[in-house]
Amino acid sequence: MRLPPWLLALLLVAPCPAWDTLPHQRITRAALETLPKAQLRRLGSEAAPLIEIYCIFPDRYEEMQRYGFVRNSPGPRTAAEIQPYCVRPDGQPIHGATGDRETDAKSLVYLFERIRTNLSANRPGEVARYAGVLAHFIEDSLSPPHAVDADRLAEMTPVPAQMARVNIHAVIERSIPEFTMVERAPRVLAGRQAQVADTVLAQCESGAAQNRRDLSAMVNAAALHDERTLDPYRLRAGRKAAEILADALFTLFQAGSVVR
Ligand SMILES: [Zn+2]
Repeated sequence: MRLPPWLLALLLVAPCPAWDTLPHQRITRAALETLPKAQLRRLGSEAAPLIEIYCIFPDRYEEMQRYGFVRNSPGPRTAAEIQPYCVRPDGQPIHGATGDRETDAKSLVYLFERIRTNLSANRPGEVARYAGVLAHFIEDSLSPPHAVDADRLAEMTPVPAQMARVNIHAVIERSIPEFTMVERAPRVLAGRQAQVADTVLAQCESGAAQNRRDLSAMVNAAALHDERTLDPYRLRAGRKAAEILADALFTLFQAGSVVR
């Protein structure tokens, strides 16, 4: 989605929202496609808005809550209406990994509990909304520029790109090639909810570490607007996020008592 210039300017001085809308939708779709049909049936018609709208909730919440900006596209019109999905009852926002393991584990457990409770109560709309925020969390945690802080990213940026004020962060995050993972079967993440949260966070961290190792190549390509070089890195990050999300959802949707 194209944001208005005034909002873009504000976002440049605020924490970056990470992947743009289309990459979020593509990663979420790729993950959902790998779930067994019986699990997808539990989402019913809510699978489509999960991919189109709910997986963008944390960005939309932030835009509305901080800047009063409401997108023209279908979806929430007020921050209040999506606050229960994007903010924990203790006030902690849920967006992407913060780097604080305890905070992040609590956020994941909060989402897991809501997904499971609403699955039991057969409320697919609620399941899909919390699953959308879970998708966003995992996806943003794997967004390549987020592997380092803003100062480090600026240091890594070649001087000509700095002079030309190329927004390296935004260039890397704005697109991802379409992909599918239909050949991959999702896996159960073992353990109780806290252990599953820990596994998800460890996988997000390992994906971020991989992004960090290749970040200077990505930054150099972004400085030259070299999309062909960037795409395989974006694809790898997106695929990793989709795998983590698919396994987490598969685990939560499993009937019975794998996650308690
Ligand atoms: Zn975001």
